Amino acid sequence: MTASAPQIDPPFLGEPYLLTPGPLTTSYEVKQAMLRDWGSWDDDFRAMTSDMRCRLLALLGEGAAEFDCVPMQGSGSFAVEAMLASFIPRDGKALVLANGAYGLRSAQTLQYLGRAYRLLDKGDYLPPRGQEVAQILADDPAITHVVAIHCETSSGILNPVEEISEAVYAADRKLLIDSMSAFGAIELKPSQIRYEAMVSSANKCIEGVPGFGFVIARKEELEAAKGNSHSLSLDVHAQWAHMEKTGQWRFTPPTHVVAAFLEALKAHEAEGGVEGRGARYTRNRDVMVAGMRELGFETLLQNRWLSPIIVTFFCPADRNFVFGRFYDLMKEKGFIIYPGKLTVVDSFRVGCIGQMDEHVMRQVVTAASETLAEMGVASAAPPAAALEERAKLAA
Ligand SMILES: *Cc1c(COP(=O)(O)O)cnc(C)c1O
Repeated sequence: MTASAPQIDPPFLGEPYLLTPGPLTTSYEVKQAMLRDWGSWDDDFRAMTSDMRCRLLALLGEGAAEFDCVPMQGSGSFAVEAMLASFIPRDGKALVLANGAYGLRSAQTLQYLGRAYRLLDKGDYLPPRGQEVAQILADDPAITHVVAIHCETSSGILNPVEEISEAVYAADRKLLIDSMSAFGAIELKPSQIRYEAMVSSANKCIEGVPGFGFVIARKEELEAAKGNSHSLSLDVHAQWAHMEKTGQWRFTPPTHVVAAFLEALKAHEAEGGVEGRGARYTRNRDVMVAGMRELGFETLLQNRWLSPIIVTFFCPADRNFVFGRFYDLMKEKGFIIYPGKLTVVDSFRVGCIGQMDEHVMRQVVTAASETLAEMGVASAAPPAAALEERAKLAA
């Protein structure tokens, strides 16, 4: 237990908990911070932008001085696109490491951008390993950048970014990380893992509301990014240069979202920063997974690869189990879960992030147990095919 246990609010006005990877359940204080209007050009709002950038950078720990933080309007994917377009030169070539929807989205983004890329597609959830990255980089000298997903939210797998980073820099290439669903809860310290840039957004582990993302990049990469972007509004260099000069965003900022995010950052700090936040999410996961396993549910991933962000469960083989009905009955009990994204077998996901603690997670398990009984599902055990699929991970 940490000294200052986080104060978790009950859901606001009886709204259900969002057991989803963002938008997620936010605190009352975060919502309340949106009740005031701010002028984007005003000194007060400029100070808020500056404070926010400093607080985000501070999460990197030692070595943060070599980086800067550039917020970008839009959802997380806008920030990913901005990062890829701004740091991969037009004549560069990327290696995209995919094991789910977000890795594939990065590849699709590069396709739109007209950047050369090579895709390592590991399927629904197998992790890209350092050794195979090293092999591809040795075989293909044209590759300049590697794009990795920190936590692949579509399965919940925590990818081995440390060994990927080692392989990338041993081959003298550059690493860009989509840490959207991990940053703020899982350390990404430049003193421990090398990378040029990473992205995340307001509505994931910092527990703000949706509306912008942010790129954290080495200053020398920011300098060098001038002229790379194909897009005016997604040009990270231009946004950075303008912000450095004027303290303002280039185009209308999501003022209320920034105000809410600052409140969320203060709560993050009070909880003990990345470590404290990560510890609460880890307890959330452990309590929820243990309870669900007791009911007979099986996780897609073995413990080693389970992130404290979101967990994929196989749908039970029992013929009475219908996901749509399971979802509706869980919602009636106050919990919104998430459909699965696997292509081979049926699954669903339960998020561990947002304003929830282990007590809430126990209620989630109780709700799942009651729901199975209401549906007449005798066993939550998955079909044999699911377990065969999972065995691949051990192979
Ligand atoms: C949430 C998320 C994104 C961005 O998704 P948006 O819907 O555009 O906010 C990108 N990558 C990962 C890994 C994510 O979890």
